[in-house]
Amino acid sequence: MNIFEMLKNNYKSYKINDSSDIDTIQIMKICDICIANPDIIVYVKKNVKNKLYFDVIEGFEKSNGIYDSNPIEIILINKDNYLYIRKNETDICNIMRSINKNLLNCDECCVCYEPKENIKHILCNKCQTPICVKCIPKLNQKICPQCKIDFKVLCI
Ligand SMILES: [Zn+2]
Ligand SMILES: [Zn+2]
Repeated sequence: MNIFEMLKNNYKSYKINDSSDIDTIQIMKICDICIANPDIIVYVKKNVKNKLYFDVIEGFEKSNGIYDSNPIEIILINKDNYLYIRKNETDICNIMRSINKNLLNCDECCVCYEPKENIKHILCNKCQTPICVKCIPKLNQKICPQCKIDFKVLCI
């Protein structure tokens, strides 16, 4: 599964920026840019050039008692939030659920972008993205716009 393609296809209201080709110092600078630009999701895939950055994060996790034998493969950054995707994570619905909940703090309808507090909504029970009841009939296909699950499964 190509996470970068998935981001581009499913998070069209964000600019998806592949920053894998930069070194550790430049990644630090990107973190500042992200804080000022909430509509950017930065994607960093581990490679020889940026390996040090991943090592530092894993070292930090270990020194804080968080031991995970699965190495971090991809880092996603949005505003001042980070999401680490590890090598063994392959369930795309789980990844999207983490992106929505932990990276983007998704709190608006994924169709009309109305804040969740103002609308009657359901949460997709696969990816946890909110969709307001007004927008559900407007969908061309009765599938979740984010994770593509069939809504018949959801609306019991
Ligand atoms: Zn809506
Ligand atoms: Zn969904």
